[in-house]
Amino acid sequence: MIRLVEVTKTFGTGTSALNDVSLTIEKGEFVFLVGPSGSGKTTLLRLLIRDMLPTKGIITIGDWNLVELPNNKVPHLRKRIGVVFQDLKLLMDRTIYENIMLPLEMSEVDQNEAKQKVEQIVEQVGLSEHLHKFPVQLSGGELQRAAIARALVFSPEILLADEPTGNLDNTTSWEIVKLLNDINKAGTTVIMATHNLEVVSSLGKRTVTLEKGRVIKDAGKSIKQEDQEDKGKKEVHEKKDNKEIKDSKKGEKDADN
Ligand code: ADP
Ligand code: MG
Repeated sequence: MIRLVEVTKTFGTGTSALNDVSLTIEKGEFVFLVGPSGSGKTTLLRLLIRDMLPTKGIITIGDWNLVELPNNKVPHLRKRIGVVFQDLKLLMDRTIYENIMLPLEMSEVDQNEAKQKVEQIVEQVGLSEHLHKFPVQLSGGELQRAAIARALVFSPEILLADEPTGNLDNTTSWEIVKLLNDINKAGTTVIMATHNLEVVSSLGKRTVTLEKGRVIKDAGKSIKQEDQEDKGKKEVHEKKDNKEIKDSKKGEKDADN
């Protein structure tokens, strides 16, 4: 489960990108994250991979507290969470195969195992015939598939996709969303940031709407999730209260001494 409790992110520039956001996402959910440009979608995704820390609040993934996660655990976290960035970050001087293989090579996975994994994923995302082409030889939709494939090499529990249909026409957008939906059906939690409302409305999935860094709507969430969010807030406040009691006791003690 992914849990954000009263998360605020303020950048050094003074911009408040997220404001008191509380959200729980269950294992296996498909969630659209929508909202106008600048509403905080990318910031939220970046916080989930510990690309940066929140200014305030708590973020947990399973039993990992991301705020307290030691730096040496971050690479492990990034294997648990696959990401497709808005700019895809594919290397132009490498083939699609090499691009997808790269994270596996860097983590020293057994060569044969890596090869098998890449072949299986490429088949899954429908890129088998383009394996040995370079990025410039692929269409926008195919590049998106390649980036999704690369995000799946460690069989992550969670897949984050930032505006994966941003530059695509309607038909291609729909195909990408269908692929993400299939990946979700196979068990991966999927969070997709988008402002393509047509795609969002036709799929009928949970939709979290951000505006100026706040969640203004969360359509399709279950009562269970509401309970979880309340529980999360309660825990945080209890912790704070305990700390305050402790601190005040400490104060009394210090005064005694
Ligand atoms: P979205 O993805 O919904 O378009 P972002 O999360 O990228 O929104 O941005 C939210 C707000 O935070 C915007 O006002 C943006 O300008 C600001 N912002 C994002 N990243 C940074 C940064 N690294 N430094 C300063 N401000 C930022
Ligand atoms: Mg963005």
